[in-house]
Amino acid sequence: MSRSEQAELLRQEYARRREENTREETRRQREIVEKLPEVAQLAAQRQEMIYSGVRGILSRKTADTALPERMREYNRRIERLLEENGYPADYLSPVFRCPICRDTGYAGEPIREECECFRRELSRRMLAEMGLREQTEQSFETFREDMLPEDVTVEPAKGQHMSQRALTGFIRDHCMRWVDSYPNQEQTTLLLMGESGLGKTFLLHAMAKRFLEKGADAVLTSAQRLQEEARKSYFGREESSYALLLAAPVLLVDDLGSEAQLSNVTQVFLYELVNERQSRRLTTAFSTNLNEEELRARYTERVASRLTDRRNSLALTLLGEDLRRR
Ligand SMILES: [Zn+2]
Repeated sequence: MSRSEQAELLRQEYARRREENTREETRRQREIVEKLPEVAQLAAQRQEMIYSGVRGILSRKTADTALPERMREYNRRIERLLEENGYPADYLSPVFRCPICRDTGYAGEPIREECECFRRELSRRMLAEMGLREQTEQSFETFREDMLPEDVTVEPAKGQHMSQRALTGFIRDHCMRWVDSYPNQEQTTLLLMGESGLGKTFLLHAMAKRFLEKGADAVLTSAQRLQEEARKSYFGREESSYALLLAAPVLLVDDLGSEAQLSNVTQVFLYELVNERQSRRLTTAFSTNLNEEELRARYTERVASRLTDRRNSLALTLLGEDLRRR
């Protein structure tokens, strides 16, 4: 399901929640009428005051300046009586879970935006759908620099030496900044290279999470699944989500190179995907165990150059020792 589909479902849930809230408000009012008629009467008078205040404004085009103070006085009396009778002071106040959006899912003036509560819930569901529920600890916030070896020296560029920890931290910062610059990224493609066990998948998941938290319509998939969907779409016999993946505003592809090699199908679909997405300036991130040379050998020169060309792509290479072996 895409973000917009998930969002639509969630909007429907919010609408149902608002209906429940209204039912609960009505139930409480009836309860108070029955059990505390004195409070119910005060509430009715307060309501009448609001109506007459509004009518006054409409007929005289002026506001009753004493009204707010009288309202506050009524509120205080109602709250006190409720508490004295063992009810919460706000028992007759509007019912909602989120005080910011009052369960509308939208907040902000003058520009209405998705409320924080809505975005958070949507991002949780998107992550769950991507199978990231168990891995939500894979985020930039939980990235443990001290888990990375400081005593392993790597050489990211000729003559340039640094520890694995320093290089990985540097790449982590790059990844984070790249996500944060969305949707105005200079390079819309990010290629995360490096042998297995260096933290590529962790960083890719962390990026996916951060994109979702920003409210971006991000999809995380594996190269294997991507190829499977492309194949189904080419042969047109089965339902395929390839078109959705091709057009996703943000697509993150894990483990490029691990998919089965199907004659030249892989090369063709990958070229199409990268080409199409780059020309439409859609954001795409890949992780791969392959280096540039291996990318060329496996996917042809034109695919590899699209993936590593500095104008369109931010290519980062992790180096060091397998973290799982330490
Ligand atoms: Zn809210």
